[in-house]
Amino acid sequence: MAELFYDDDADLSIIQNRKVAVIGYGSQGHAHALSLRDSGVDVRVGLHEGSKSKAKAEEQGLRVVTPAEAAAEADVIMILVPDPIQAKVYEESIKDNLKDGDALFFGHGLNIRYGFIKPPAGVDVALVAPKGPGHLVRRQYEEGRGVPCIAGVEQDASGNAFALALSYAKGIGGTRAGVIKTTFTEETETDLFGEQAVLCGGASALVKAGFETLVEAGYQPEIAYFECLHELKLIVDLMYEGGLEKMRWSVSETAEWGDYVTGPRIINENTKAEMKKVLAEIQDGTFANNWMAEYNAGLPKYNEYKKADEDHLLETTGKKLRKLMSWVDDEA
Ligand code: NDP
Ligand code: MG
Ligand code: MG
Repeated sequence: MAELFYDDDADLSIIQNRKVAVIGYGSQGHAHALSLRDSGVDVRVGLHEGSKSKAKAEEQGLRVVTPAEAAAEADVIMILVPDPIQAKVYEESIKDNLKDGDALFFGHGLNIRYGFIKPPAGVDVALVAPKGPGHLVRRQYEEGRGVPCIAGVEQDASGNAFALALSYAKGIGGTRAGVIKTTFTEETETDLFGEQAVLCGGASALVKAGFETLVEAGYQPEIAYFECLHELKLIVDLMYEGGLEKMRWSVSETAEWGDYVTGPRIINENTKAEMKKVLAEIQDGTFANNWMAEYNAGLPKYNEYKKADEDHLLETTGKKLRKLMSWVDDEA
C-alpha cells in the first residue's frame, strides 16, 4: 500500500528556512510561488527575457529575476518551465549556479528519469507533483484546502531530501489533502502511460472512432457528436465521484448491460497487448527520445496531427453545437 503523509508529518519550518526559486510562472509556477509566499517562505521567480507572465507575477507581489539570478540566490530551485525546454534552461541558467547542499526540485520527473538533466552529486533532487492543474492547486490553497501531491527523491545528498520535499508540499497545501510517496521512475512512467493510453490518447481515439462509425453509417454528425463526445462528461463525472459503481447505478439497466457485453469487445486483448508495447516504449526511453527529437526539429509531425484533427468533422461539428449550449465554457 502507498505511504501517505499529512500536515502533522511535515515540518513547514524546513522550507521557511531556505531560499526558494520558482523557475517559470505558468500553470504550476504561479500556484507554487504564491502559496509558498503565503506560507511564509522566501520566494523569487525566475523568468526569461521577454516573458509574458512577468508582469502578472510582479503585480501579484512577487520579485522576478532571471532564471540564473534566481538559481544563484536560492538554495531550493523548483523547475516549472515546460518539460521539453527544461534541459536547455538547466544548462544555460541553473547548472553553474548550483552549490553543494542546494536542492533541485521538479513537478514532473521526465528530465531526470531519462537523463536529459544530470545534476551534480552534492545536490538533493526531489519531486513534488500536485495531482491537479495549477489553478486548482492555488484555489484550494486559498480556501484552506489542498490538492493531493506525490513526492519522491532521486538523490538524497543531504540525507533530509524527503523531509524537505514534504515541507515544500506543506507550503503549497499538499499535506492538507495528503502526499503519496513515489519515485521519479514511477511518477514519470505512469504519468506518460496514463495520458497516452487512457486520458488523452485513448479517450480521444475512442471518441473519434465512435463518431466516425456512426457518421459513416449515415447518421447525422450532430447526433453522433452528442452521443460520442458531449455525453462523455456526464459519465466521467459519475466515475470521478463514485467509481464505475456510481456510473452504473446512474445509467439505465440497458446501458449497464451494454457496458458489460460490448466494452470488452472494443477494448480487448489486442488493445491491452498494444498498451503493453506503449508502456515498454515509455520504460526503455523510446517515447521520450522520439518526443525530444520531434520538439527539437520544430514540431513538424505534431503540427501535422494538430491540423488534421482541427479539420475533423467531429471538431467542426462540435464548434457549431457548443454555440447552442450557453452553459458550455469554450475558453482555453
Ligand atoms: P506552463 O507551460 O504553464 O508554464 C511555463 C512557464 O515557463 C511560463 O511562465 C513561461 O513563461 C515560462 N518559461 C518558458 N520558457 C522559459 C525559460 N526559458 N526560462 C524561464 N521560464 C520560461 O507549464 P506547466 O505549469 O504546465 O508545467 C510546468 C511543470 O509542471 C512541467 O514539468 C509539468 O510536467 C509539471 N506539471 C504540470 C501540471 C499542470 O497542471 N499543468 C500538473 C503537474 C505537473 P512565459 O509564458 O511568460 O513566456
Ligand atoms: Mg503529464
Ligand atoms: Mg445515449
